[in-house]
Amino acid sequence: MNISIIGCGYVGLVTGVCLASIGHRVLCVDSDQEKIKKLKAGHVPIYEPGLDALMREAVKKGRLSFGGSVREATQKTDVIFIAVGTPSKKNGEADLTYVENVARQIAMSMTAYKLIIEKSTVPAETGKRIERTIRLNLPKRSKTIPFDVASNPEFLREGSAIEDFMNPDRVVIGVESARAEKILREIYQPLNPHIVVTNINSAEIIKHASNSFLATKISFANALAQICDRVGADVLKVAEGMGYDKRIGKSFLRAGIGYGGSCFPKDVDAFIRLSERSGYQFNLLKEVRQVNEEQKAIFVRLIEDKLWILKDKVIGVLGLAFKPDTDDMRNAPSLDIIAALQKEGAKVKAYDPQAMGQARKVLKKVTFCKDIYALAKGCDCLLLLTEWGEFKKINFKKVKTLMRQAVIFDGRNLYHADRLNDLGYEYYGIGRGVSV
Ligand code: NAD
Repeated sequence: MNISIIGCGYVGLVTGVCLASIGHRVLCVDSDQEKIKKLKAGHVPIYEPGLDALMREAVKKGRLSFGGSVREATQKTDVIFIAVGTPSKKNGEADLTYVENVARQIAMSMTAYKLIIEKSTVPAETGKRIERTIRLNLPKRSKTIPFDVASNPEFLREGSAIEDFMNPDRVVIGVESARAEKILREIYQPLNPHIVVTNINSAEIIKHASNSFLATKISFANALAQICDRVGADVLKVAEGMGYDKRIGKSFLRAGIGYGGSCFPKDVDAFIRLSERSGYQFNLLKEVRQVNEEQKAIFVRLIEDKLWILKDKVIGVLGLAFKPDTDDMRNAPSLDIIAALQKEGAKVKAYDPQAMGQARKVLKKVTFCKDIYALAKGCDCLLLLTEWGEFKKINFKKVKTLMRQAVIFDGRNLYHADRLNDLGYEYYGIGRGVSV
């Protein structure tokens, strides 16, 4: 099938590359010409394991190309995925400017039937608005051209995006016509996934509800951690004991410094706003957001309490990305935590295996180090903020000889307190039985 993807970000690029590698012919378009230039030259602008090899292969086979415009994409292909950003407005609502813009451009170039698929995460009723925008912007001569709008939300996780795309738990398709359903089924047929078919509004809600539910699990674990610290329980064991119950499940029941990234904070905000606009106060989600915000402040308070004076203390940060296996710094908890420590006069050094390039653009007065050992040198404490695989293999004996004081704050509960205590470290995790 001939498909175009509008927007070559994390979602658009992964979608384009994967659809090409399962046999479709894909044209990826982006308004950022620098990005297109890089992609044409064979460079993947983001860090996503396995993506560059798959992309090169698809290009070599002649199934994947980059460039052009929305106009060209509309003229050359009958199936168009919209995968542009939907950032938050100041009030938390999803900013759909880019989506509207693309819908208008598609309308103005249509000369035959098109299926326009929302891949971006959007609030309920966006499909209806896209449909209306296209209808209003069709040139006079094209007013009778048939078209369908569909929703096909994306559930991939950065860091394992290809695996998630190729082996999805489910594919959700929100459609209002048999023709649209048939095309979408055909697109995904090579993956033979479990397909949930529904109307567009329900598909849009499924995405917001899924991310909000996962955020709720994280905030629940973080709230539990607070109780565990106060009564001397270990949140890791509590979560383990709960997680074996199949009705609950182990995943996302992890206490830490809170969720971040480009999706959860934005999608929780957008879902709260959508609920408000529809006349319902989603107080449960407001609390989820509140717990998440507090979690970072609590971690900073713990550091302040244990280090006593922060002014001129040297703090080494292990991990900056919002999660491992990505270089994405959008809404990373490290940003707020570092800013709070710097405000108190601490000197921050940092090391991240992949995200330092992105981090340099958003972090000021941070000394970036080439490896863990350069980071540890002269530090009064280490903070583990992203649980990269590399950090599981640290030689803590060696690290201790480099630090000024052997103190570790483990924001992801990655390490065993006993092992580090045995090596002479003071160890503090989240919800491991230490209250401040
Ligand atoms: P992104 O910011 O990485 O990429 C968006 C791209 O769209 C950018 O390259 C931008 O230049 C391009 N763009 C904007 N306007 C355009 C236009 N008029 N024409 C062509 N290109 C245009 O965003 P992302 O992380 O890929 O997210 C895209 C959407 O997918 C969002 O709605 C997001 O919520 C959703 N989503 C993201 C993830 C994730 O893990 N990142 C997962 C599931 C869903």
